[in-house]
Amino acid sequence: MFASSLDTTIEYLKGVGPKRAELLQKELRIFTYDHLLNYFPFRYIDRTRFYKVNELNSELPYVQVLGRITGKEQIGEKHKKRIVARLTDETGSIELVWFQSLKYVDENVQRGKVYIVFGKPTAFNGGFSISHPELENYPRPATITGNLRLQPVYNSTEKLKKFFLDSKGIQKLQTLVIEQNLAEVKESLPAYILDKYQMVTKKEAILSIHFPRDVKALKGAERRLKFEELFYIQLQLLHNKQIREWKFKGHPFNTVGESVNTFYKEILPFELTGAQKRVIKEIRTDTQRGVQMNRLVQGDVGSGKTVVALMSMLLAKDNGFQACMMAPTEILARQHYESITSLLDGRLAKIGILTGSTTKKQRTKLHEELEAGEIDILVGTHALIEDKVVFKNLALVVIDEQHRFGVEQRAKLWRKNAIPPHILVMTATPIPRTLAMTLYGDLDVSSIDELPVGRKPIETRHFVEGQRLRMFGFMREEIAKGRQVYVVYPLIKESEKLDLLNLEAGIEQMSYQFPRPDFQISIVHGQMKNAEKQFEMQQFIDGKSQIMVATTVIEVGVNVPNASIMIIENAERFGLSQLHQLRGRVGRGAEQSFCILMSGNKLGADGRLRLDTMVKTNNGFEISEIDLQLRGPGDLTGTQQSGVLELKLANLATDQLILQEARSTVIDILAGDPQLELPENSLLKTYLAKRSRGIALDKIS
Ligand code: ADP
Ligand code: MG
Repeated sequence: MFASSLDTTIEYLKGVGPKRAELLQKELRIFTYDHLLNYFPFRYIDRTRFYKVNELNSELPYVQVLGRITGKEQIGEKHKKRIVARLTDETGSIELVWFQSLKYVDENVQRGKVYIVFGKPTAFNGGFSISHPELENYPRPATITGNLRLQPVYNSTEKLKKFFLDSKGIQKLQTLVIEQNLAEVKESLPAYILDKYQMVTKKEAILSIHFPRDVKALKGAERRLKFEELFYIQLQLLHNKQIREWKFKGHPFNTVGESVNTFYKEILPFELTGAQKRVIKEIRTDTQRGVQMNRLVQGDVGSGKTVVALMSMLLAKDNGFQACMMAPTEILARQHYESITSLLDGRLAKIGILTGSTTKKQRTKLHEELEAGEIDILVGTHALIEDKVVFKNLALVVIDEQHRFGVEQRAKLWRKNAIPPHILVMTATPIPRTLAMTLYGDLDVSSIDELPVGRKPIETRHFVEGQRLRMFGFMREEIAKGRQVYVVYPLIKESEKLDLLNLEAGIEQMSYQFPRPDFQISIVHGQMKNAEKQFEMQQFIDGKSQIMVATTVIEVGVNVPNASIMIIENAERFGLSQLHQLRGRVGRGAEQSFCILMSGNKLGADGRLRLDTMVKTNNGFEISEIDLQLRGPGDLTGTQQSGVLELKLANLATDQLILQEARSTVIDILAGDPQLELPENSLLKTYLAKRSRGIALDKIS
């Protein structure tokens, strides 16, 4: 390709020079003109809107006020020296204050003249004041980049600001590059896609994102650039998927044999839900079509993922292969081992377990049995990945709770067999569709979106402080019926001391309301020694205590079917998915279960929405969608899965439609031109070639 002036080092842009270039590189990763053009504003200020003085309030962000300077004086001594001016319109007046550049301000701000004043109003002395406002002459002169109605605002940093590269300064640089080099901006999407979705060209988009003529032009630019961003992520993901499918044949599971049939017809104590059947069918189809399966199964707590995993593993066995199942913690691995063993009723398959606490002797035996192919299903923690663990013929790996395992670990599992095993990933926290498409866009996704019949939905109520006595009464009634209760307190690092005090006060109150010897209370929190924790938990599990007061440590891995009440204190402080996870601790037995959310009387809008959502629905999929709207994707997954989630413009909560379009466009393109050989797709091919340079294929998973 020909060198483009856009590849010029930023240092050579007029007004930059070596020092600022270094800062731009360090602070914003801007090395070239092109990087600068791709550094987008994060918001815009509507410069068509003028506020009247009597419309101001301190909630407003930056505003413009049009008025006349009716007073100006310099007051104070030394470092308190400042200029205070008065700006007046027909509805009132406000104060303008400058502490710096006093000489300049004094010369340029003239009494009696009309200005456009721009800044953030703060309440002051019964009126409003703006410090260090920007002033513009009125009427505005036409500028080169158009008479700006929407002023771009760029993120800057303290260091850059010291060198006059605040938002305004960056805008100046953008103006220069756009005036001189816009013609060099190359189209990055095929013309037929632009046509199909009626999108503006790259040139126009770059111009309008920095200097929008009007809202319509800005929206057009945003749409085009968001599409492009999502499109290339999808292209990369789906292209990887395609390569994987070409490269790895996978182990064909051609027959449904004796174990699956016997299990299904004779052992399985219940009817599968429609959703379970559908997902098993999807897995069955995947594993017999001669490519390697990579499937994500998501389903709420209790939706019955274990049976699905087990039947898939039996399918592997029926075809002469081994399978393994990996859980993130020892407790969960044990739970899986036990539920699988009991589901199989000791028949059909030989099951092994391998965790960090497996003894050396057991381990040696296990290794032998695995290599000899005597063990059909191995359950365990990441101890499974170790190189010493050798299978005779591993063809299916089930991974529970995906997001705790990294790509590296997945890759290690791949190498356990010459032909990589099929991979089935299970997650208990449903994730919104857009997030699934982006984070796991190279996997096929199945959802178990239906609970087994006869399950009593957990009833959730929201109580405020004034209803606390009612809550105690309710606890007493349920305990009298023989049930057990969890009471959970938030414990957050930033407010740890206060939270612990809260917890203490809570415990005291509980002990007063539920005194010994009639009641026993178990207490578990992060500050305790492990042995103590274990003891207290065991008391509760054995039914020796009726109440467990805990911080969020109970979130993972406790299964006490008789505990049917979950009380969450300061519920407004928990995130939605955390509330949902906590609630999932109850509703595991035959009894009607309840979740009570306690909060203060005053709630913010977000807090109210979270609690209302919890009361309204038990559906983890619905909850995850709302959580995404509230918190954004990064927080939601709790992962730093860098790259995919660091979107520049697109927003997975609000740009679902664009994502959908981008993904289906990619699917169509790859279906019609898998190798991207058509001339109209050459741009895409070039892009992928650039991106995949140096990435070994076996790293892609
Ligand atoms: P999760 O999806 O949370 O892993 P499990 O697989 O542990 O859920 O299943 C929760 C409980 O529901 C288990 O006791 C399991 O045996 C039971 N179960 C699973 N599927 C069904 C079904 N179709 N009908 C009735 N009970 C079921
Ligand atoms: Mg499970």
